Amino acid sequence: MAFEMTIGGAPAPAAARFDVANPAGGLAGQAPNGTLADLDRAVTAAQEAFASWSQLPDGERQRYCEAVTAKIADHSEELAQLITAEQGKPLNGLGSRFEMGGAQAWAGCTAGLSLPVKVLQDNAEGRVELHRKPLGVVGSITPWNYPVMIAVWHILPALRTGNTVVIKPSPLTPLSTLRLVALLNDVLPAGVLNCVTGDDRSENLGAAMSAHPGIRKIVFTGSCATGEKIMASAAPTMKRLTLEMGGNDAGIVLPDADPQAIAEGLFWGAFINNGQTCAALKRLYVHEDIHDAVCAALAEFARGIPVGPGSDENSILGPLQNPMQHAKVARLVASAREKGQVLLGGNPGEGLFFEPTIIAGLANGDALVDEEQFGPALPVIKYRDVEEAVAAANDSPNGLGGSVWSSDIARARRVAARLECGSVWINKHGAIQPNAPFGGVKSSGLGVEFGEEGLAEYTDIQVVFA
Ligand code: NAD
Repeated sequence: MAFEMTIGGAPAPAAARFDVANPAGGLAGQAPNGTLADLDRAVTAAQEAFASWSQLPDGERQRYCEAVTAKIADHSEELAQLITAEQGKPLNGLGSRFEMGGAQAWAGCTAGLSLPVKVLQDNAEGRVELHRKPLGVVGSITPWNYPVMIAVWHILPALRTGNTVVIKPSPLTPLSTLRLVALLNDVLPAGVLNCVTGDDRSENLGAAMSAHPGIRKIVFTGSCATGEKIMASAAPTMKRLTLEMGGNDAGIVLPDADPQAIAEGLFWGAFINNGQTCAALKRLYVHEDIHDAVCAALAEFARGIPVGPGSDENSILGPLQNPMQHAKVARLVASAREKGQVLLGGNPGEGLFFEPTIIAGLANGDALVDEEQFGPALPVIKYRDVEEAVAAANDSPNGLGGSVWSSDIARARRVAARLECGSVWINKHGAIQPNAPFGGVKSSGLGVEFGEEGLAEYTDIQVVFA
């Protein structure tokens, strides 16, 4: 299949293309290497479409968003196959079919949300109404870990509130987004949703978007380093920003937890998508009384997980997505091995594969604990007293998610309330849902996505005094 950018409702031919690797080996396909001129054309098309899209009655935009949801559902398997080919995650397990289920759920829920006019005052002195108005063109910049689901997280609330969109996926996983946008253009008016792709080498389209005077807001999911650059280059045009960035989520296992009962939840909290998940469990603090039992139960569960190419229906975990990520995990695991005890794995496999790895005997200050590994390597830290664990969990510039594991929910809630993070889970980790706002505190981000609070971020307030 030839993948094309979509600009103004039509395929946009590109002069050059770049290769997109399949992480399990070989090529997934080729993507258009768009230019700054393509980006300008996409922004102009989105600006032109904004004039009528923003004026549609709210119910009509809702029906368009429902049609988008139906289109995603109809092409779910095709997009899942593409995700597996370019991202590497398995079709099964919590892989690409699961990602497509999420994309559909988020699209459907967002289609059903609305921001009705709020009456702030209505009395003899006058009526005061709070209206939510669309911003204009939204620029969406997405990462490579959940290419379709994150695209849906950005696109749907923007369209639902009357904005138009230019999306730019990661050069590592552009194909599923190119196809998604082409499909959605079958049911959307021309220019409402545009997609540009580039290899980030000749020209950096993401950087150009963050400074572009025609774009009113950037919604970005990706690394902290890139988020900081976006914030700086968006300042002169006073863009609205939603930044979902890195995390180094801690989990605290209290002494009364049941090791067998929590092992599966701990495993998936940490190893979902091979750990390449923003809100995955990345550091595990376990009380000394049950430390060994928790480690044994976790390693036992992890041993049974089949790892293989994503296209193999039996695989539950696949390869890492890219060589840079693989090298980072290998470096962090190599340094952790020098001090800690390897309970499972510890070795790079063939190509981009890496054995699921659990290493105990580490502490804050060790690289695998302090740095975001974004891979299948979980450090376990033994603690003696809960105060010490809470302080160690909070001793991080990041604050995306956190979790507390205990048989005593009231006690777990008290500990959870002290964690510095945007989401906190009890006896699970990373379970997000489309009706609950999600975002980071500290260096993990700015603003939230999902739910009414997430929708409101795609609007400016206008207050009408009558
Ligand atoms: P990245 O920051 O390298 O790339 C993300 C996107 O930014 C890509 O589309 C890239 O082309 C673009 N980009 C590159 N340079 C840019 C620039 N100067 N200006 C604007 N855009 C630019 O991140 P990644 O490697 O794709 O993703 C991995 C990271 O993302 C991890 O740190 C992870 O924690 C984080 N992440 C966070 C969330 C979240 O919701 N908080 C979700 C997924 C990933």
